[in-house]
Amino acid sequence: MSMLAHALVNFDRTVPLLKGEFDEAVFTRLRCWKEKIELRLSPLFSDGRVHVVTAYVVQHCNTLGPAKGGIRMAPNVTLDDVSALAMEMSWKCALIGVPFGGGKSGIVADPTKLSAQDKEILIRSFARNAHRHIHPLVYVPAPDMGTNEKDMGHMKDAISYSQGLATTQGCYITGKPVILGGLPGRREATGRGVAVATCEALKLLGKKVKGATAIVQGYGNVGGVAARELARLGMKIVGVSDMYGATINAKGLNLVKLDGHVQKTGSVKGFDGGKDIDGSALLEAPCDVLVPAATANQITGKNAARIQAKIIAEGANGPTTPEADEILARRNVFVIPDILCNAGGVYASYLEYTQETQQEQMTEEEVRSRLENRMKEKFQLVMKTATDGKLRPRDASMYLAVRNVCMAMVARGFLP
Ligand code: NAD
Repeated sequence: MSMLAHALVNFDRTVPLLKGEFDEAVFTRLRCWKEKIELRLSPLFSDGRVHVVTAYVVQHCNTLGPAKGGIRMAPNVTLDDVSALAMEMSWKCALIGVPFGGGKSGIVADPTKLSAQDKEILIRSFARNAHRHIHPLVYVPAPDMGTNEKDMGHMKDAISYSQGLATTQGCYITGKPVILGGLPGRREATGRGVAVATCEALKLLGKKVKGATAIVQGYGNVGGVAARELARLGMKIVGVSDMYGATINAKGLNLVKLDGHVQKTGSVKGFDGGKDIDGSALLEAPCDVLVPAATANQITGKNAARIQAKIIAEGANGPTTPEADEILARRNVFVIPDILCNAGGVYASYLEYTQETQQEQMTEEEVRSRLENRMKEKFQLVMKTATDGKLRPRDASMYLAVRNVCMAMVARGFLP
C-alpha cells in the first residue's frame, strides 16, 4: 500500500468517530492539502555540470501553527509520499500538543551517491529555491531520512546569507548543529521518546522493564538511540538490523561493541557478538518488544501473524500496514502508533523553535526531562481515550489528534 493510501485509510477510519461534532466541510478540508509545491533545482555539481533535480514542499494544514516537517532526500521519494508524510505531521503535532501544522519536503536524489561537497551544493540550492516557502511563521523544516544536522546548518547559513544577516531572526530550521542554535538532545529525542513510550507500554501490560527483551529494525538515528536508551534502562537488546543485514543474540547484544563494529564496517552485519540472520526473519524472532525504526510497510498482512513480540513500538513512520493492524489487534499485540511513539522528535523541535525565538538556551537535562514528561502525559491520555472509547491506541491517537485540528479550525472561525 502506498504511503498516501495508508495516510488516507488512517484519516477515513477517524472521521466516523468525530461525526456530529464538526461540520462535514471540516473533514473535507482536512482530507486534502493546503499547498503542494514542485520545484526544479539546477545545482552546479563538482563535475562541472548542471544537474536538474526535482524537489517538493508540501503543507497539509497550518491551522494550529506554521507547518512542521522534515526534508527527505531519497532517489525514489514522490510527491504522494511527501503529501502523506505532511498529513501525518499534522496529526503528530496536534497529538503531542505543539502549535505546529503539518508539512514535509522531498528532494529526489540519492544522498549515498553524492560527495559531501555536492550534497552541500544541493542543499544550498534547495534552500535558495524553497526560501519563499520557509519562514518561522510559514513552514519550518528539519532533517528526515537522507538529511542531517550538518545539512540544516547549511540551510540556516544559506537563508541568513541571502538576507545579508549574521543569523536568521527567529527559527527557520530545526535539527541544526547545537553550535548554530540547535537544541542539545534534539538528535536523540525521537529515539528517547520511543524508549519512554515502550517503558509505559510494558508497565501497562504488567511487565518489568528490567530484563525485557527488544528487537530493533533499523539501527540508524531513531533505532540506534532507542536501542541504547532501552539497554540503559535495563532491557536486553536481542537483535538489530540495518539495510545491509541483521544480527541476533538471545543473551543480549553488547551495544558498545556493536557500535564499534558499525563504525568500522558501516553495518551491523558480521558482528562477532551475534549471529547473522535475515532481516525479515529478525522481525519474527522471539522478543517482548519489536521496534520497527527503519521505513514504512515492514509489518504487513504477510508477516503479522508470525510476529512474536507482545508490543510493537513504531519508531518509523507507517511501519505497520492497515491489514497487519487488523491481524495484530486480533492477536492482542499492543501497538504504540507512530504519531505517538516517534513524536519526541517534533516535540524537541518545538523546544528548539521556542529557544531560538526567545533567544534562550536550554540544557540537555531540561530537554530530556520535558520530553519524558510530555511523552508520558500523552501516552496516558491516549490510553485513557482508548479504554473509555473501546478503541485501539492508533484510533484513539488519531481521534485526539484530528479532533484538536478540527477544534482549532472552528475556533479560528474559518467556517460560517
Ligand atoms: P536513518 O537513516 O538514521 O536510519 C534508518 C536505518 O534503517 C538505517 O540504519 C538503515 O540502514 C536502516 N534500514 C533501511 N531500510 C531497512 C530495512 N528494509 N530493513 C532494516 N533496516 C533498514 O533514519 P532515521 O532518522 O533513524 O529514521 C528512521 C525512521 O524513523 C523513518 O521512517 C523516519 O521517517 C522516522 N522518524 C524519524 C525521526 C527523526 O527524528 N529522525 C522522527 C520521526 C520519525
